Amino acid sequence: MAESLDFLWADPAAALPSPDSPSCPNCGSSHPKSLICRSLPGRDPVWALLRCPDCTAGFYEDQTVSDYADEGMTAESTTYFLQQGAAVSIFADILAHIQKAPGAAYVEIGCGFGFGLDVAHHAMGWSARGMDPADLSAVGRRLLGVDITPAYFDPTTVPSGSCDVVMATEVLEHLPDPGGFLREIRRGLKPDGIAVLTTPDIAAVRPAIAKPVLSATLTVGLHLVLQSAASLDFLLRQAGFTHVLVQSDGWKLTAFAATTPLALREDKAARQAIAIRYLTERAESRSQDDDLYFGFAGRAYFEAVSAQDQAAAERVWKDLGPRLQHRYQIDIDTITSPLPQTTETVSRDISAVMPLNLAAIMLARAYQRLQAVEARAGLLPRFAAINAVCAPLWSWLNALQIGDMQTRQILWVAQAEVALCVAAQGRRAVLPMMAKLAESPTGSGREAIVRRSIELLIHGEKPYLATKLARQESLPHMRVTGDTLVTALLRSFLRELFYRSRQALRG
Ligand SMILES: [Zn+2]
Repeated sequence: MAESLDFLWADPAAALPSPDSPSCPNCGSSHPKSLICRSLPGRDPVWALLRCPDCTAGFYEDQTVSDYADEGMTAESTTYFLQQGAAVSIFADILAHIQKAPGAAYVEIGCGFGFGLDVAHHAMGWSARGMDPADLSAVGRRLLGVDITPAYFDPTTVPSGSCDVVMATEVLEHLPDPGGFLREIRRGLKPDGIAVLTTPDIAAVRPAIAKPVLSATLTVGLHLVLQSAASLDFLLRQAGFTHVLVQSDGWKLTAFAATTPLALREDKAARQAIAIRYLTERAESRSQDDDLYFGFAGRAYFEAVSAQDQAAAERVWKDLGPRLQHRYQIDIDTITSPLPQTTETVSRDISAVMPLNLAAIMLARAYQRLQAVEARAGLLPRFAAINAVCAPLWSWLNALQIGDMQTRQILWVAQAEVALCVAAQGRRAVLPMMAKLAESPTGSGREAIVRRSIELLIHGEKPYLATKLARQESLPHMRVTGDTLVTALLRSFLRELFYRSRQALRG
């Protein structure tokens, strides 16, 4: 076994299937299971994650269900959740896949705060209701005005054949009988209804992933079954769905399932347009200094920049820039050093001096400038400022045990972007900078940054430095990858991190 931080990975060569392992909660297989990882000997809690040889899902030996009604929210974690607009743009993208007419009946199981309901109502025009016993739902009911009951999904709350769309995000992995849950969803759907699910992808459980990210996928004690793309497809078909699409981004599985052809909106630009319009309008509906304003506007801005829609980005920025000035006295276009109030001690309330999604806003602003007018070389101070201003934010959130992977990942991207700026300037300093750049917290992205730096050096007619960097990084073959990296990076980590914000609140 190889030791990794606070648990042990099974050595693939030595991990023999155990003959007396429990049956698979996913498919019922009684064949011997192999070990994926487990707790260190003598440490509490004792746990082991096993892999089913038949359906390929992972599951914990201990299948005890937690009591989610007890989930508490601190004032800070509520502010964080609202100002981040946690996962709201992901909900918008997922639901924009579905082409159901206005008035369609939408039900969301385990809807949490209710952003999914808000999207269903305001972006899609559906009749939306949700169910969730958690405290967070009461907050969402009040602030979003959405319809949430503290109930479970069963024949008394949802009559058979009554729903056009049933969604359950990050629910399946918490259940001891995932197959039974999917059959229950199918019961609630109309004949042409569609089920939508998200759940962690067990493909993300591997040693290369940074520990905080890995912990969010494992979530020992709360997660019970971790699906693979194959096991989720199997489970949905077992539950009677005949048309199934399971997508993975390497971290998260998103599934659409029905008993009639799916007919999804495949045009990504069309979905983005729906999301940006929805987020922008929701932001504009919020009053001055409202925490949710920063959640909607931050997401709208990020999505617009990510879609390279300058007009939409400018529309959001015209409002967001002045509101940042008004509430926090922050001018993103000139800020370069840490806010004085954040340097004294991390125990100070940082939410009083900056919105908790500031790193995302600053990064989007730098990318907007990059897309619109400015040469990369001149943007170095903007990218450097992200680390200077937002590193204390990350420390503060960490101290509060709000595992903010979004800020963490953005700090890494900003650091990488600084190195790219130095490469664009053709400076030798790119060599030690790149040597110091660790792999990203999500376990990938560094090599793309190295390759892009080499391209920038070549384009800047510094072939000597380009060769030195390639040697330093042991890259024998260079492949020109084009200038789409920034957008690709932005999209891939956004997707993953938005989901994690929910985990953060449970951790
Ligand atoms: Zn199985």
